[in-house]
Amino acid sequence: MTDRTRTPLDEDEPGLAPVGSLPGVGSALQQTLAKLGIVRVQDLWFHLPRQYEDRTRITAIRDVKIGHAAQVEGVIEAVETGFRYRAQLRVAITDDSQTTLVLRFFHFRRAQVERLMPGARLRCYGEVRHGAHGPEMVHPQYQIVHATSTVDECLTPVYPATEGLGQQRLRSLIAKALTRLPDETKLELIPGALREPLQLLSLRDALLTVHRPPPDADLDALMRGSHPAQQRLAFEELLTHHLSLKRLRAQVRVHRAPALRESAALRKRFIEALPFALTDAQRRVSSEIATDLARAAPMLRLVQGDVGSGKTVVAALAALSAIANDHQVALMAPTELLAEQHLRSFRQWFEPLGLDVVWLAGKVQGRARQTALAAVAGGAPIVIGTHALMQEGVVFKRLGLAIVDEQHRFGVQQRMALRDKGADADLFPHQLVLTATPIPRTLAMSVYADLDISALDELPPGRTPVRTVAVSNARRAEVIERIRAACAEGLQAYWVCTIIEESEQLIAQAAEVTHAELSHALPQLKIGLLHGRMKPAEKQATMDAFKSGKLALLVATTVIEVGVDVPNASLMVIENAERLGLAQLHQLRGRVGRGSVASNCVLLYQPPLSVLAKQRLEVMRETNDGFVIAEKDLQLRGPGELLGTRQTGELGFRIADIVRDAHLLPAVQRVGAAILQEYPEPAARLVTRWIGASARFADA
Ligand code: ADP
Ligand code: MG
Repeated sequence: MTDRTRTPLDEDEPGLAPVGSLPGVGSALQQTLAKLGIVRVQDLWFHLPRQYEDRTRITAIRDVKIGHAAQVEGVIEAVETGFRYRAQLRVAITDDSQTTLVLRFFHFRRAQVERLMPGARLRCYGEVRHGAHGPEMVHPQYQIVHATSTVDECLTPVYPATEGLGQQRLRSLIAKALTRLPDETKLELIPGALREPLQLLSLRDALLTVHRPPPDADLDALMRGSHPAQQRLAFEELLTHHLSLKRLRAQVRVHRAPALRESAALRKRFIEALPFALTDAQRRVSSEIATDLARAAPMLRLVQGDVGSGKTVVAALAALSAIANDHQVALMAPTELLAEQHLRSFRQWFEPLGLDVVWLAGKVQGRARQTALAAVAGGAPIVIGTHALMQEGVVFKRLGLAIVDEQHRFGVQQRMALRDKGADADLFPHQLVLTATPIPRTLAMSVYADLDISALDELPPGRTPVRTVAVSNARRAEVIERIRAACAEGLQAYWVCTIIEESEQLIAQAAEVTHAELSHALPQLKIGLLHGRMKPAEKQATMDAFKSGKLALLVATTVIEVGVDVPNASLMVIENAERLGLAQLHQLRGRVGRGSVASNCVLLYQPPLSVLAKQRLEVMRETNDGFVIAEKDLQLRGPGELLGTRQTGELGFRIADIVRDAHLLPAVQRVGAAILQEYPEPAARLVTRWIGASARFADA
């Protein structure tokens, strides 16, 4: 299948023009936009709001709902600045409903305080929480207004933003980009014959609606992502994803790979040296892999296994098959931390067998790097590392097997890049992908349409399941005391900070604030801080200190989610647990329960709980099984779920949420098959639109 006959970069596709072609977009702004993945004009079209704010009306303070955002207006009654662990500004406003609302600020300037005079009229927009004396808003947006001020006419979109690029600027850029939206016939790529039976909106209408919803649009549906306009976009994205994977799959089938037959002797020596016996699941999955490897066609297999299910040993067994046949193995992990963990395991297992393990990560520089590269080029049996493995200059002698850990952090593209490193004439290496994100089988078939799937659905024996409790934030002091007690016994704990805001800056701030609070409450403990805005070296140093036991408590954002292994950490507190999806809660909780001591997880929530949040926390208390949790997640999703808690990022979707939009998948598969058969040209252009001109699809 080749599409070289037409170039996808058509001159008359205005969406493919660089953002720099928009008026007022200079090189500095282009760089900032690139951080959001916005490079071309159409990237702005598809940069969708993650939320909407309704400022088309003013709610009486008496009617505000805890946990919901509202716009209120009232007169300032009192202003108070004080200090409790940290500086605070509190402003009380009252409206005609004779109810008081407290506005609370932790970051503020003197000039700001001076303008907040009692008697002034304030209009505020924010999420309402339970305060000590009634409803409150933390860091609301506000302005001083006069009695005659008018309200907005349209729902306000809130976009994923980044430092140096706020909402106002993004809104105006997107408005500019939308003026370049071509008419329907040019924009639409899903053939009418396939689209009509599904009653999908046109792409143009869908885009205009999501960016500028009229005031009577269904706000709840928009917030959930279930509005027809959003569903139309999700459909197209899922379809594209499906098409590209199908094409990849077809392409891989025609390639050949070295047949790697298992060496029973080597396998036996390896297994006998392990301090444990393999589980039945490990044995089964490993023989599925062995069968694939022995074929002269490239394996493309995904091993789904819950955290702690023992994927590493399975990977090691696969590696032995390659090595026994005089082929090399590359193992790539998404972070240095994870890669180093693998390095340690593999060295421990392989060095006694006389096999050298080469280490290649970004921080391996200079002479060490030269030595590593020479070893890889010379045919060293196994090399472990990060993205660095894909860089130029890394040349394998005979790569037989590429293993990629934690698949969802890498895109298909990166996986393919590693594979290509090993391509030798028409021989391609086998690929093994490991992921700890269990997703229901029906979904897996669609999301990983290019892979065969094995499930490692059994944990090694002797694990004490993590005991999970849900505790209201009102009992925060007790939770802190519990940490003190655990750490006094020499155990370690995590405190995970999450907030609804997706901006890394705000999450980092929240973590800093909590770090200060806990440091104050627990002066006897050494407490570390880990968040995404720290430099890699700082993160690494903090993680090392925690691993070696120098830190008793680690306050962290969800950056600790993937694969971190500190067996002595046996207590985890997850703040605002009611706001996280089941999958994420499960991933986080997997950081404890890795050692021999009984572990505990405290889900700290802000009352009152929605029905759905209550059910989610209940599931977490009832089970530790990732597959059960994934199924429950699918059942519970839907009504009431906010855009902010989507898992989109994990699977690399911009708009679709594989769980929320699962009902679209049968149609996606149907339309996908038809389009590949009957409309190859729009199929290729869809992939270019969503995945980029550089997509492998284009040169497949
Ligand atoms: P994950 O699937 O999360 O990557 P790992 O491969 O890191 O899990 O394994 C988690 C821990 O369990 C490791 O310490 C590993 O040595 C151990 N382990 C793996 N398989 C078994 C087994 N069959 N019996 C006992 N312990 C095992
Ligand atoms: Mg692992």
